[in-house]
Amino acid sequence: MRILIVEDEVRLAATLQDLLELNGYTADVCHDGESGLDNALSGIYDVVILDVMLPRMDGFSVLRQLRAAGSAAPVLMLTARSEVADRVEGLDCGADYYLTKPFEPRELTACVRALSRRAPDLRPPEALEFGDLTLDRNAFALVCADRSVHLSRKEFDLAELLIRNRGQILTKETLLLKLWGYDSEAEDNHVEVYISFLRKKLEHLRSRVKIRTIRMVGYTLEDPAP
Ligand code: CA
Repeated sequence: MRILIVEDEVRLAATLQDLLELNGYTADVCHDGESGLDNALSGIYDVVILDVMLPRMDGFSVLRQLRAAGSAAPVLMLTARSEVADRVEGLDCGADYYLTKPFEPRELTACVRALSRRAPDLRPPEALEFGDLTLDRNAFALVCADRSVHLSRKEFDLAELLIRNRGQILTKETLLLKLWGYDSEAEDNHVEVYISFLRKKLEHLRSRVKIRTIRMVGYTLEDPAP
C-alpha cells in the first residue's frame, strides 16, 4: 500500500515516513499544498495524510480540490489546531479521519489501518491468482503447480500490480511511479530490468502466463489458455 504524506515540517514528515515504512507501507513525502495536490491527483496513493497548515495551499483547499476532481482516496488530516470548528471543516471537506498533533505513533498507524479497512479492496489478500499462477504474500513467492520461486520486494510489487490490473495495459510511467515513487531517481529502464527478471521467473516456473510488451505503451499480463 502506498501512502502520500503532505506535511511541511520536514522532521515530522521524515518521522512519519519512517514509521509507516517500518509498518510495511511505502510512503512518499511532499512539503507544500500544491505539490501535495498534484501528487494526490495522480491516483497512485491508497491513503493521503494531509496537514492543514501548509505553504502555497492549505490542507482544506487541497482536500476540497481533490474531492472535486473525483478522488475517493481516504484522507487522514493532521493539525496542530484542535478547535472543533477546524475538525468540522476538515470533515465537511471530505476528510475521513482527523488527528490532532501531537499524537502517538501508534495512534497514526491505527488510523491508517482503520482507513485501509474502510476500503476493503485496499486490504491485500493472502494470495492473488492469475491463470496457473498464485502470488503468495506470506512467502513472497510466485507459485505454479509444484514449482515456486522467491521474489524480491520489487518483483513482488510488480507481479502484484500486473495481476491486480489483469486485462489492462500498465504503462512504464505508471509502473515507475507505483514501484519507485516520485522522489526516486529510477528511470524507465528499471521497469524493463524488473520485467525481464519476472519473465525469467515465469519461465523457470513453466507458467503459461506471459508478460506481453505493448510497444511504446507498456505491459499486460496474458493467459493464453484461460
Ligand atoms: Ca504545517
